[in-house]
Amino acid sequence: MINLEPTISQIEKLLEENTEASVTYAALECRLAIERICYERLRLAHDYISHDDLRKWQPSDIVKTLIQEVDAKAAETFTLSIAREHMPEGSPPLARENYEAMEWLPVGTQVGFAPNKLGKLWNALAKLALHIEIPTSKDATVTQYGDIQAIAPKVKLALAEIRRISEGTMMFTGMGEEVSFECSCGSKNKRRLELLKDGQTINCINPDCDESYGYVQTDMTFGRRTFEIVCRACEASRDIPKRMVEKLRTDQHIHFDCSRCSETIYVSWRPMQAQRTEPTLKRPK
Ligand SMILES: [Zn+2]
Ligand SMILES: [Zn+2]
Repeated sequence: MINLEPTISQIEKLLEENTEASVTYAALECRLAIERICYERLRLAHDYISHDDLRKWQPSDIVKTLIQEVDAKAAETFTLSIAREHMPEGSPPLARENYEAMEWLPVGTQVGFAPNKLGKLWNALAKLALHIEIPTSKDATVTQYGDIQAIAPKVKLALAEIRRISEGTMMFTGMGEEVSFECSCGSKNKRRLELLKDGQTINCINPDCDESYGYVQTDMTFGRRTFEIVCRACEASRDIPKRMVEKLRTDQHIHFDCSRCSETIYVSWRPMQAQRTEPTLKRPK
């Protein structure tokens, strides 16, 4: 758990100072705190998602991706409790009344938040406090700070939200059936079954690995995504990770030595022309 208390008292102190500079710094502290709240959830989820699976980088988008792919309850409020009574493994499931009659010990409470609301605050703080207004004419003045009257209320809103979230005593990476596979690099990749979609691409969680896998729902398998390369000199073929090719920019190439004849093979993206009209052959008269 991240400790938000020092940040909260720092923001309070800056608000009390109530100068253009101090309120601007308070806005920056709020933004950093929002980032920490969201990124901490990502850090905890990293066993379940690759860095490369995050398509957008704003803190609220990261949390939204976690909700879609890792844990549907990643941003919800709930308390986790365990039963005092020990249930031996393999014991038959009990009826609801039996569970309700048990004594439960609370383990902790996760305090949730609305990613959209937090994202809007994060954007609003930047707009008001972290940039000054662009002069629209020669007569306009270039100010040193933003408008304190506009910044302070937003900072107070953000502070209230940060304080509320700071009251949580745990963060959880979710429950539910898990499926896993071992990548050729040796990393174990885990996913929640209920959040997997047929045909979904899963990038290996190892940040140094280029492998990716396609999920096949019918037999719950993960197929390695590859690109076949055939040596033109000796016709030996090999499969390279498809992501190596997908990551290539148009002005880049990758190269390998053929494992059989050791000739160097280059791979790069090329524009290709296609037309609906077949070329007409001009016959000499
Ligand atoms: Zn891997
Ligand atoms: Zn070869």
